[in-house]
Amino acid sequence: MAGIYIHIPFCHKACTYCNFHFSTNLTLVAKMVTALCQELELKKTYLDNPSIDTIYLGGGTPSILHTSQLAQLFQAIYSTFAVSHKAEITLEANPEDLSKENILFWKNVGVNRLSIGIQSFQDDTLKWMNRNHSKNDSVRGVQMAQNLGIENLSIDLIYGTPDLTEELWRREIQTAIELQATHISSYCLTIEDKTALANQVKKGLSSPVSDEQSELQLLILMEEMELAGYEHYEISNFCKPSFESKHNSSYWKGLPYIGIGPGAHSYNLSSRQFNVSNNVQYINDLSTGKIPFTEELLTQQDLYNEYILTRLRTKWGIDLNEIARLNPTHLPKIQRLLSNFIENGFLDEINGLFRLTTKGKLLADEITLQLMV
Ligand code: SF4
Repeated sequence: MAGIYIHIPFCHKACTYCNFHFSTNLTLVAKMVTALCQELELKKTYLDNPSIDTIYLGGGTPSILHTSQLAQLFQAIYSTFAVSHKAEITLEANPEDLSKENILFWKNVGVNRLSIGIQSFQDDTLKWMNRNHSKNDSVRGVQMAQNLGIENLSIDLIYGTPDLTEELWRREIQTAIELQATHISSYCLTIEDKTALANQVKKGLSSPVSDEQSELQLLILMEEMELAGYEHYEISNFCKPSFESKHNSSYWKGLPYIGIGPGAHSYNLSSRQFNVSNNVQYINDLSTGKIPFTEELLTQQDLYNEYILTRLRTKWGIDLNEIARLNPTHLPKIQRLLSNFIENGFLDEINGLFRLTTKGKLLADEITLQLMV
């Protein structure tokens, strides 16, 4: 089992809070698609005979690509790798790109899951975030995708924004539920360095919300999602039964993947490769048959830390046998910590599997840090 992630590093506009790798200069899109196809060919043997079960086009904004560019990309994927006929194929799309023509084309090349960057159903908030769409675009786009046969549809929502009251947040969640999204990813706004938002905060033009307010909004989210029949399968992700993101779940389960594009990572169980986050350098190097990347060989300690970092946040939890295998030296210390977390109501344990409780989910980052070595 393996996945392919393809990073499309272009966006219509720069959202104020975003520190992902992207450019709003679209002059290099065509050359980038050619370079991505070249990297696919060069990564053909990165994993041994991989059967591709998931493909994820993320970014940036993959829905920005012209249909002919997407056709070129999918042609390269299908001619290079053995893609399972049941593969989950996700495309991240922004609401303004959800036209009938695009959706039908995406379905035609095999896309069977859309992850839609809605972020907020409040037009004022969308403007504050410098998003390129309105609430109406989102509602119309989701309904159109569903009417055209995309059943597996995820909505991204952001909480922790300055004007988000408790009542407004409940309404936001209800709107996503009423749209019958099968999956909801919801993240707390963070103020990342070198973003327009960080600049606004520095100048006193925006103020960060308190930890208490963010925690309350996460609690509201968990409560509303549970009432509506969604499973909380990862700290920021909720799904209707059997609609987990297979691609992201495979990251959290430590399965190998091939990352394509500037800023993308690849993982083959023993090392990780990091592609350069520079569009021009990426295109130039690929045109000479070279992938610009750095590589990190993973030590036993790295593998243990990654296990804690990814698995503790999920419904699968962390397994004492796996901890003992990956980190025998620190096992007594970790067992003491785990017992403390259980006593304080942050974790529960069944047959050697430790999972975050509701109280623990509010402090997931701190608990993870303490368990890492
Ligand atoms: S559309 Fe997505 S990737 Fe692009 S700037 Fe906004 S949040 Fe970042």
